[in-house]
Amino acid sequence: MSGRLAETQARIAVAAKAAERDPAEVHLIAVSKTFGAPQILPVLQAGHRLFGENRVQEAKAKWPELKAQFPDIRLHLIGPLQSNKAKEAVELFDAIHSIDRPKIARAVAEEMRKQGKRLELFLQVNTGEEPQKAGVAPRELPALLALCRDELGLEIAGLMCIPPLEEEPALRFAFLTKLAADNALSGLSMGMSDDFETAVAFGATHVRVGSAIFGARPKP
Ligand SMILES: *Cc1c(COP(=O)(O)O)cnc(C)c1O
Repeated sequence: MSGRLAETQARIAVAAKAAERDPAEVHLIAVSKTFGAPQILPVLQAGHRLFGENRVQEAKAKWPELKAQFPDIRLHLIGPLQSNKAKEAVELFDAIHSIDRPKIARAVAEEMRKQGKRLELFLQVNTGEEPQKAGVAPRELPALLALCRDELGLEIAGLMCIPPLEEEPALRFAFLTKLAADNALSGLSMGMSDDFETAVAFGATHVRVGSAIFGARPKP
């Protein structure tokens, strides 16, 4: 596990240098969904502290105990959020990458206010406009961003995307980078195990890497 972590970090560093970027600008989110403490502990013991989960319930079952041992763990929610889970999500996570509609933005803003907690927030964009996929349509992004910033007083860190599976991701990454620049956003959450080096080349600030670090996930 920790060997694969070191290898992933080294690959990020090479990709960043090739793009004339500082590797320290690229945050590696180790995506630990489906894995338990036995697989996660070696990564913690290797010094890594930034993790991603895609389900609130699963994260709630495994992270409080690990956080008690490693208080500086930072947890990012990278999967879809239902508004009835906003309270638990704001309690447990330090960042949410999947804000994609007004209802979720409002629920998260309300919980952050109640709990006196500020999370790092990303708006998820459905770059491929796939009907089954989460994310705001690109043409609706300016309105969602205006709602977040002007009405809800939220600071938005950046944009997130999961490009269509069957396509070359570079065009989608370039598109997300342009959308972020057009909207004065600096954070870019893009790139997974199969394409994080390409994402780094296009400016990713957060890569979400699961299987390259933890191995293949059991099939659901
Ligand atoms: C599972 C997941 C990842 C990591 O996927 P790998 O291919 O295992 O690196 C990244 N982002 C999201 C949103 C995920 O759900």
